[in-house]
Amino acid sequence: MAVPKSKISRSRRGMRRSHLALEQVNVTECSNCGEMKRPHHMCLACGHYDGREVVEIEAIV
Ligand SMILES: [Zn+2]
Repeated sequence: MAVPKSKISRSRRGMRRSHLALEQVNVTECSNCGEMKRPHHMCLACGHYDGREVVEIEAIV
């Protein structure tokens, strides 16, 4: 079984984890429905992208 040769210090562990934070995702307003959406992605609320409908969104309920 692979076993670590020596204990990782609190400092080294912290240095490793300094890259683990989640990045904030960028959002812009949908030009069709005004809902917030990610740039270069179709709108999750209305299914539009680049001024046209690309996916039909079935209304829940
Ligand atoms: Zn939309």
